[in-house]
Amino acid sequence: MNLPVLVKHKIEANVNSDRFQENFCSIAQFGIQQNGGVTRLAFSKEDMDARNFLIEAMRSARLQVTIDPIGNIRGRRAGTEPNLAPVMIGSHLDTVPDGGHYDGVVGVLAALEVISTFNDLEIETQRSIEIVNFCAEESSRFGMATIGSKAITGKIKQSDLTALIDNDGESLHSVLTKMGQSLDDLSSSTLDDSSLHAYLELHIEQGPVLENKGVNIGIVTDIAAPTRFKVKITGRSDHSGNTPMDMRRDALAGAAEIVLTVEQLTTNGGENTVGTVGELTVHPSAMNVIPGQVELSVDIRDTNLSDKNKVVQQLKKRLETIAKTRQLEMVITPICDDTPVKLSGQIVSKLSHHATKLGLSYLTMPSGAGHDAMHFATIVPTGLI
Ligand SMILES: [Zn+2]
Repeated sequence: MNLPVLVKHKIEANVNSDRFQENFCSIAQFGIQQNGGVTRLAFSKEDMDARNFLIEAMRSARLQVTIDPIGNIRGRRAGTEPNLAPVMIGSHLDTVPDGGHYDGVVGVLAALEVISTFNDLEIETQRSIEIVNFCAEESSRFGMATIGSKAITGKIKQSDLTALIDNDGESLHSVLTKMGQSLDDLSSSTLDDSSLHAYLELHIEQGPVLENKGVNIGIVTDIAAPTRFKVKITGRSDHSGNTPMDMRRDALAGAAEIVLTVEQLTTNGGENTVGTVGELTVHPSAMNVIPGQVELSVDIRDTNLSDKNKVVQQLKKRLETIAKTRQLEMVITPICDDTPVKLSGQIVSKLSHHATKLGLSYLTMPSGAGHDAMHFATIVPTGLI
């Protein structure tokens, strides 16, 4: 497929789809699994190989490449007015275990392809363009998501990062030190509204809406934010044969009621409210023992803060009732309570206008998943396709 790029009024350019495809194939080799998935955890050998490939490709595209203290790779193409704040375009190359080929990669390679197309056609831009690969967008290795974009937008302090370790006990600090980076310089790379003009990101949808509706692209208006907490439910483990039904304190039956309550409240919540119980640990987990303890996770997301808060409040009330009725103890441990972000209305209408002009069908829609773009939205005009 040839994806056209419209540049300044009347120049119409096509990206080089063969080159774009070749770069995908090259990146996919780093961490490819037998089942076809890709495992490229942040700063692993596979991720470092992909990063080095990108650095080489950026240099071939005549970009000035820098690696900032947290490990984000940035490549700058100077504009005709280099003193103006640049436009940044990017995403991430790291993946979850057995991840897809396109998540994150499409955004980084699309940015690179835009630059290469500009080079091919000798197109100059007034503002400089910086393309970026954010490190550790996925939380799979260090338990925290979007580390690179949080750092570059000043959403995180050095002290928040020093404690991060992976499952093998290796710290992010030690990984970065081995790469020659230093967290001491973290604040030096923080961008604000004077050092950046706008941020743009292309990402896969990670959902079924566009395909189901047969629409080419989604232009994102809002990014949902999660409220997450764990619930530890304690009942009593008893023999499954000798304990009458009215004398049980079954923690799993209580958990089952919670799972259905999350589904019911979010289904009846706001237009974009979603809720999931994705983890459930049952103790002692034996066929003939009534479960005495269950731990579960709750993830509620919405693009509308008051809709989300309403559902969370309702859910907490219902948890109290379930605990009381079933004589269970419940302990709630908060994980996060984030605020949804709105993306630039001006960029949404520009993207919609150009999609129409290019004959691409589009949908303006919220994104239920978090992305690097969400950290930029509070600083500079931000767009996400
Ligand atoms: Zn992603």
